[in-house]
Amino acid sequence: MFLEIQGLKVSYRSYAGTITVLDDFYLNMKEGETVAIVGESGSGKSTLGQAITKLLPPSAVMDGKIEVSGIDISKKSEDEMSNIRGTTMFMIFQNPLNSLNPVKTVGFQLMEAISIRNQRNGENMTEEQMKNEVVETMKVVRLPDPERILERYPHELSGGQVQRVVICMALLLKPRLLIADEPTTALDVTIQAQVVNLLKELNQTRKMSIIFITHDLSLAYVLADRIVVMYAGRIMEDGPAEDLIRKPLHPYTEGLLMSIPTNDKNAGPLYSIPGSPPSFFSLPKGCKFSPRCRYVFGKCETEEPRLVNYGSSSVRCWLRG
Ligand code: ADP
Ligand code: MG
Repeated sequence: MFLEIQGLKVSYRSYAGTITVLDDFYLNMKEGETVAIVGESGSGKSTLGQAITKLLPPSAVMDGKIEVSGIDISKKSEDEMSNIRGTTMFMIFQNPLNSLNPVKTVGFQLMEAISIRNQRNGENMTEEQMKNEVVETMKVVRLPDPERILERYPHELSGGQVQRVVICMALLLKPRLLIADEPTTALDVTIQAQVVNLLKELNQTRKMSIIFITHDLSLAYVLADRIVVMYAGRIMEDGPAEDLIRKPLHPYTEGLLMSIPTNDKNAGPLYSIPGSPPSFFSLPKGCKFSPRCRYVFGKCETEEPRLVNYGSSSVRCWLRG
């Protein structure tokens, strides 16, 4: 397995107490796969990305195993991790400006990305060769007028351009795994689709593995081979994208699907799952989704179901045994 996560648990300590925001999390990912992590805000998605890249804040306590390309990241020092982060994996943060240095021009930072890669591979390139590669890669991510953008500082660009610069940087570094945390949230719908299609293209042409974090199940479906649906820090369902969309196994997945707007003019008012996600300070005892579930019965409210295999999927629901 390229990425192997077993029994991952992450808690945050604060003056108000300790909350466990990721629990019993498992993920096996093959090289070249695209996996979408889907869930409402606060379900633990960014925490997962930070755990994989070992960028959790000091207040976080982590338990469980994360192996990327055979490397057990818990055994790696910060120095080794910063090397792994630019090479084996690269994370695009929810706010893309966080991935860039505000006081350096875009050109400087993209050239730097190539130098880092060359250093790692023991390769020598002239300044001119590097510049050419930067300009070519900017074309790949469809950044218009490279010469002009290279001289700009990140804050002088539009949201869509900043996101493309960060993706361009990822391409120059050539990581094997790209983790994109809601990379399209700040963008308008047309640009969102473009960025998702771009990621899809990169996965297909460069075999780059992608973890795509989003709250939008329909975007997840466009991009991913597999979708993992999260709720209150747990995996509720994990399966091939096609199966999960056509035949959802978990009532929460079903609810998310029913909440997607359609073009059908005869459709009634848009469904929305009643209630809201629980606070991590007072999680329900049994299934974390039970207070909002329309199929709730007996033991749902007292006993938490385990994640079990169900064909080529897995699901955490008493309806599925
Ligand atoms: P998502 O990305 O799905 O919105 P997050 O992983 O950001 O979810 O957050 C999951 C939960 O962990 C939330 O309740 C959030 O408030 C809490 N949380 C995130 N970061 C911290 C932190 N540094 N300290 C304490 N709590 C945090
Ligand atoms: Mg987040």
